[in-house]
Amino acid sequence: MHTPLLSENSSSYDLVIIGGGCAGLALAMAICKRVTKPSHAPKTLIIEPRAQYIDDRSWCFWERENKVNKNLVAKSWPTWEFGTKLEQHKHSSKSGWQYNYVPSIRFYDQAEQLISKHEQITLLKNTRVTGVTPNPSNVEVTLDSGSISAEQVVDTRVPDSFDMNKATLKQIFYGIEIELTTKNAIEDIARVMEDMRADSDGFLFNYILPIDEKSILVEVTRFSGAPLAPETLREAALELANHISDQSKYKITREESGVIPMGVAPQVEAADPRWLRTGIGVGAARPSTGYAFQRIQGWADMCAKTILASGQCQSFPSDSAKLAWMDNIFLCTIRDDPTLAPELFLSLARNVKPDRLLRFLTDCPNRTDVLAVIVSLPKWPLVRTVLVDLFRGLSTRKRGGKWRKAL
Ligand SMILES: Cc1cc2nc3c(=O)[nH]c(=O)nc-3n(C[C@H](O)[C@H](O)[C@H](O)COP(=O)(O)OP(=O)(O)OC[C@H]3O[C@@H](n4cnc5c(N)ncnc54)[C@H](O)[C@@H]3O)c2cc1C
Repeated sequence: MHTPLLSENSSSYDLVIIGGGCAGLALAMAICKRVTKPSHAPKTLIIEPRAQYIDDRSWCFWERENKVNKNLVAKSWPTWEFGTKLEQHKHSSKSGWQYNYVPSIRFYDQAEQLISKHEQITLLKNTRVTGVTPNPSNVEVTLDSGSISAEQVVDTRVPDSFDMNKATLKQIFYGIEIELTTKNAIEDIARVMEDMRADSDGFLFNYILPIDEKSILVEVTRFSGAPLAPETLREAALELANHISDQSKYKITREESGVIPMGVAPQVEAADPRWLRTGIGVGAARPSTGYAFQRIQGWADMCAKTILASGQCQSFPSDSAKLAWMDNIFLCTIRDDPTLAPELFLSLARNVKPDRLLRFLTDCPNRTDVLAVIVSLPKWPLVRTVLVDLFRGLSTRKRGGKWRKAL
């Protein structure tokens, strides 16, 4: 059991978490949930510049039977759809997978409530970290209002050295949540990749979630080699909102946007093992999909476990060699010729069974799932050959033991 610092000095902490966003709060919540008594938690400070949380994003992800996040999920869809204008594929799982929607404000509120019940854990809002200096005896964290010392620091900020240009692709999106004056007339399914198409700036698709009887989230998403501003998609998102509302009246209740790096360079070793980087800037998003929420929750739980067991933080796990290579091939193929992307995703939806595809998309494919994905791909000599060769290479090496972990 980890022994908290006995000192009442409020300027020294066992653990300082920089950033009370998804990763920072997920780690704090995981510690709260895992600790047997609130007083046994390490003395922790989470530092967040925001004075108040707002519903700034919607987190969606596939999950089986809502086990982990059931209190956070506002809506689940048992059916989701991929499609172009000409061809659509509806998928449902045979083993309980659903597409879940977590409004970020629900996540922030639950985190704040849970943290407030743990006297050892403090969320300090309205405060910004301006520097981190590892010293021989501790790590000094400079705030805009003074400085504190920590045994360990988990830093969820995007590192200064992060260069979005180096991501193989950028996932750029603009979303608008609308509330209709009348009941919506659209089918209650999650249209996760609708109207997939390509233009001179890359591959793009629509994303449509009927959240309740009257509210719909519509988003336009682009995968592009260039780091375009999300606002370049606002007009298209408004057009989509008009189209989906079928000309009936609506009001805009919320807008959200972002750029997610897809395929970032591997993490460099931490400069100091007591200062750990995590989050979207160090590869939290799955390269080929941009989904990060579930991966962050998984890391947070694992990290909380090791903190409580040994006092040590756990860095964000790297993707297996197999997935990393496959994702890289997808991304490079789309970057080099975005017009291939609709058929690439469509063939996965057309040919791979929903549960297999989900396991692949959510980081837990078995060997048959990977094979099914490879076989499903369009027969472009390059993509197919590279993937088959890759899989053969990994299998051969596995027999020699070298790739056991990757497979
Ligand atoms: C609009 C939007 C929608 C998304 N939707 C999905 C989705 O549906 N599914 C999915 O899987 N992923 C989604 N993502 C991707 C990913 O899940 C999120 O980006 C997620 O918030 C990443 O978590 P994070 O902790 O790395 O970053 P953040 O949540 O951004 O947290 C970083 C925190 O650091 C704080 N910070 C910054 N500078 C400082 C400083 N100097 N001192 C202290 N704190 C600082 C910030 O205020 C912030 O709270 C979405 C991203 C966005 C932007």
